[in-house]
Amino acid sequence: MEYSNQLEAKSAELVHTTRQLRAANEKLTQISHQKDAFLSQISHELRTPMTSIRAFSEILRDGGTLELKAQEKYAGIIHDEAIRLTRLLDDLLDLSVLENGQVSLNMRGGTIASVLDQAMAAAGAENNPMRIRRSGAREDVRLFSDLDRLAQVFINLISNAQKYCDAKSPVLTISVREVEGQLVVDFTDNGSGIPKASQEVIFEKFSRVGSDQAAGGAGLGLAICREIMLRLGGQIAYLPGQGGASFRVTLPDALEMAAQ
Ligand code: ADP
Repeated sequence: MEYSNQLEAKSAELVHTTRQLRAANEKLTQISHQKDAFLSQISHELRTPMTSIRAFSEILRDGGTLELKAQEKYAGIIHDEAIRLTRLLDDLLDLSVLENGQVSLNMRGGTIASVLDQAMAAAGAENNPMRIRRSGAREDVRLFSDLDRLAQVFINLISNAQKYCDAKSPVLTISVREVEGQLVVDFTDNGSGIPKASQEVIFEKFSRVGSDQAAGGAGLGLAICREIMLRLGGQIAYLPGQGGASFRVTLPDALEMAAQ
């Protein structure tokens, strides 16, 4: 009797182990497919600028009779595409470092206002037609975080609003508030926003909405923002129903509330 119980227990264990093995195998297959898809997306993203660099450099090489103006134009395209490639490779490298958790954070103290000032300057807000309104009830709150990484998230959100907001008189409102006991920074523009069906995927690598591919991004910016906020112990999310596009950055608990 005891022997048969033991046998039954062993057989149940075996069934369980087999199930676990099968699940692990399926997971591995899924990872391998994701890797293939990622590689094919990267190849596609690299191929576009490479094709134009190749084509225009061939024209320059072979076109002995080209006017100086045309030569300058083609050299300019090659230069812009090379910059696009470099940016793409930088973003890919940054994302990979963040995803693998190899990133070292440079923690220091400062106010949200100073991080926002830094981000607006880096995004060229002064020379951009988009008006930025800051309603900073809580901008004086001090943070202890990697402020350069946080600024990187803010720069991305400001640049995206500058690039994608389709309003005639574009306005971005940045507000720092406390919501349910947490400090949040909302970036809301007055464009037509992001369609409901795309709101879930915009934080995935290489995701772009509609015809925005023309704007030149590779769809890595928000994926990088999400990884940074994860590393900083905070969050980033799309806020639906705000009129235009609206993103909420929730800051980690490690705040220095000294400025209160
Ligand atoms: P990209 O590098 O292409 O800008 P992101 O990951 O930063 O990629 O953004 C993903 C996509 O989300 C963009 O291509 C764009 O379609 C959409 N998007 C982001 N911000 C906005 C915004 N403020 N208004 C409208 N669409 C936006």
